[in-house]
Amino acid sequence: MSTTSKVLIGLGVIAAGVLALKCGKAPKVSQTKKLAEKITFKPAQTLEEAAQFGKNNLGIQNYRGFEAADKEVVNFANEGFVTLSNKVSGNTNMPKYFEFRNFEGGYAATTTDGGIVLNKNFFRNIDSELAGRLSVLEKQGVLIRNAENQIGVSGFIDEAYAKDILKHIERYNKGEITTLKDKMYLYNWFDDALQVGSAPFNSPLKSIKAILKNNDAVEILKSKGILTDIAQIEKLSTKEQASLFMRMIKDGNLPISIGEGAGKGVSPFHAIYHEIGHLNDNVVSGGWVSQADEQIAGLVSGYAMTKPREFIAETYAKLISGKKLPDEVLELYKKLNGPAII
Ligand SMILES: [Zn+2]
Repeated sequence: MSTTSKVLIGLGVIAAGVLALKCGKAPKVSQTKKLAEKITFKPAQTLEEAAQFGKNNLGIQNYRGFEAADKEVVNFANEGFVTLSNKVSGNTNMPKYFEFRNFEGGYAATTTDGGIVLNKNFFRNIDSELAGRLSVLEKQGVLIRNAENQIGVSGFIDEAYAKDILKHIERYNKGEITTLKDKMYLYNWFDDALQVGSAPFNSPLKSIKAILKNNDAVEILKSKGILTDIAQIEKLSTKEQASLFMRMIKDGNLPISIGEGAGKGVSPFHAIYHEIGHLNDNVVSGGWVSQADEQIAGLVSGYAMTKPREFIAETYAKLISGKKLPDEVLELYKKLNGPAII
């Protein structure tokens, strides 16, 4: 298989599941609690001090499951809570409790009964989690090894992103990424790269419409017998549209650049922001009723496509992180009553 096909097929199948999150039942939250407008974070020297900081400044009543060796994890999380709170001037709910324990699925965090749980396995093995993320990038064809086993980036990848990714990998290989915060930043950076790369396939109707705006492309596609009638295309399922989009690029030999904007507006605290998004959301349970909305969610991430509730949490987390998101995403977020970000 050619490198091109590998990249496209690889990116096409990323979809849901690469994000390190898992979410339980929606917690009942009555009213958004107001914290101080500006909280100053200072890393604690002991676990007790960290828990006291959370209690005094964030209203988190209970820290449990942490051991002395996990001090960096608690400080990391407290910094995430503080950073988020400061971004919304204290207009946020905080978890009732904050817990460290193992749970299934390899996810980083989850919410239960108004609390947030971090996965002990994930955070204690962050180095192998990071290595795993890199191997996914290679498996998906974003990264390619040459005959000398040197790593490079597929020609389909946006140039600026390709440069950044190699820089990050070099720092990682040199052992320059040492703190949990830096490791989580890199983890989320790689994850963002995958999400941005898969967005055109998550939202194939938008991608197809962009191609069909180009008359030359339409002529080429027609001559190859590829469907170009938009009314017919709209009736296809998302999966069928994604296959059609793939065929348009491959058989139509159309140029495409994947990953533009990847790695921009990334925060080390994504998982924490996501869970706090749940603590602030007003979304009713249930799945997507509209294929169009589901595809818009796919512009945020594969995980956001799973259900409206996850779309809200994912979008909230990315907005807090300063990620630039398409207009239709912001409109859907508003329509679904996503928590305001002031
Ligand atoms: Zn979630």
